[in-house]
Amino acid sequence: VSTHWESCNLNASLEQQDLDHLFHPCTDLAGHSRAGPLIWSRGEGVYVYDSAGKQYLEGMAGLWCTALGYGEKELARVAAEQMETFCYGPLFAGKSNEPSIRLAAKLSEWVPIDGARFLFGCSGSDANDAQVKLVRYYFHAIGKPGKRKILSRGNAYHGVTVATAALTGLPAFHKHFGLAMDEVIHLTSPHFYRQGRPGESESEFVERLGQELEQVIEREGADNIAAFFAEPLMGAGGVILPPEGYFQRIQPLLEANDILLVDDEVVCAFGRTGQAFGCQTYGMRPATMTMAKALSSAYVPISAVAVPPFMYEPIEKAAGEVGIFGHGLTYSGHPVAAAVAVRNLELMEERGLINHAAAMAPAFQGALQRLADHPLVGHQRGIGLIGGLELVADKESRQSFPAAEKMAFRVAAACLEEGLVVRALPGDIVAVCPPLIIDPAQIEELAGKLERGLDRALKSVQATRSA
Ligand code: PLP
Repeated sequence: VSTHWESCNLNASLEQQDLDHLFHPCTDLAGHSRAGPLIWSRGEGVYVYDSAGKQYLEGMAGLWCTALGYGEKELARVAAEQMETFCYGPLFAGKSNEPSIRLAAKLSEWVPIDGARFLFGCSGSDANDAQVKLVRYYFHAIGKPGKRKILSRGNAYHGVTVATAALTGLPAFHKHFGLAMDEVIHLTSPHFYRQGRPGESESEFVERLGQELEQVIEREGADNIAAFFAEPLMGAGGVILPPEGYFQRIQPLLEANDILLVDDEVVCAFGRTGQAFGCQTYGMRPATMTMAKALSSAYVPISAVAVPPFMYEPIEKAAGEVGIFGHGLTYSGHPVAAAVAVRNLELMEERGLINHAAAMAPAFQGALQRLADHPLVGHQRGIGLIGGLELVADKESRQSFPAAEKMAFRVAAACLEEGLVVRALPGDIVAVCPPLIIDPAQIEELAGKLERGLDRALKSVQATRSA
């Protein structure tokens, strides 16, 4: 991957400085030392360019986030204006700033939780961390301090802070950190393709997951469980769509036991599923909601938690008795981030971006479906403008490739050669999640490059095996 800018002195030195000084997150650091960085230098629409000038279709919207695409001058203008007018003012102790007020008001028009208040943060992780504290503080405030445990699921991704890494159902994110895992219970991943038993129908699978939840509530005691965290569809865990009827089976149990459904919309919110929110696509009734990523289309870091009146009111009252809700970052409600997010949402409205995403979905999903027959693809799935290809060594038995063959990474690397960015996820899943502005010709381009990437990866693994 690294050789194509060696001819350029400036970039060679940048590459060296990267190797000498940067600590890359979520990276095989030894592999990185050998291969060197791929340095992005600019972006325009759905395309990004590396430092050698090569163009790539950004098929992952960065990390599921650049919804409005790259190079949007309107957002740059708003950020510059806000920096000049008023660069920073905290929301602590009742002080406020105009962009945060306008963003909260704008979100109240979008978010399907009546009367919600919005608590801002900087990332999906810190917002979900705030959710853990909010649900516990709330139960404390209403006289149920025992309700502390949090239910999550295998394959879930809720972040990387100490609390949210414990919620994340992917071992690499919690295994080696000695986290306090005893207050988190991971339920079975709703991944029918992998977790369904031989001969089990999808509805039987859903029933089994429902019974598992009943048993966990029985075992742990409803008085000890505060919340159930769920992404409408799982993104980083493998683009896993909930099986038919899943939330319909789960929700009545949560409601009957006063367990709050925390809807993690960090990937889904603002159009990804073809609707404004994933909860609308899957019939979820969230108590609270976490948003980030497309909230600003990644032009600035910002996240938001929607807190419903039934939680806000006791929290407001409790301040006098149990003390203030002791949470807030220096940059909660940063005016530049809030101003950009407001304009981002306005642009989505002005350009009908959610309707556009819905209109593009059939072509996008159709293009991915054509790849289901590729020899490497065991399962193809998706909705709206998000999709996943699960790679298998044997389609019939669903046997995985040996880990050493790094099949999904091979495909992602081969796609880069083709000029396409996709993401390799644990479990040999290739994720695709382009900016929501993608058009039909670009969808065809994406599918063609992805198919050639799959072919290339297949050839390369065959060559390695026969060597
Ligand atoms: N929740 C979900 C569903 C995510 O996909 C992510 C990140 O990918 C997060 C939370 C964490 O967000 P961040 O990386 O901004 O901390």
